[in-house]
Amino acid sequence: MADKICSACHKALKLRESSYPMGSAFLKADRVHVDIYECPECHRVELFAADSDMITCPKCGTVHSAKESCAVCALNAALDEANK
Ligand SMILES: [Zn+2]
Ligand SMILES: [Zn+2]
Repeated sequence: MADKICSACHKALKLRESSYPMGSAFLKADRVHVDIYECPECHRVELFAADSDMITCPKCGTVHSAKESCAVCALNAALDEANK
């Protein structure tokens, strides 16, 4: 991946936080993961969408790691079984 460049002074930005969960406190549904970069020169902070392995479940819309199955769907399936 190419370096992120400060839009103010064009220095290479340094990664401060990766895959930081943005918006979780404000928007319960729309959790976005961002990589937070800071410029070592002017301390400008820039946000980029994280290159993460998070996926959105097509059934229930829950965002979860691609390595795991959807916990909400697993729970719903278990409840459906229990209600038969
Ligand atoms: Zn800068
Ligand atoms: Zn799901």
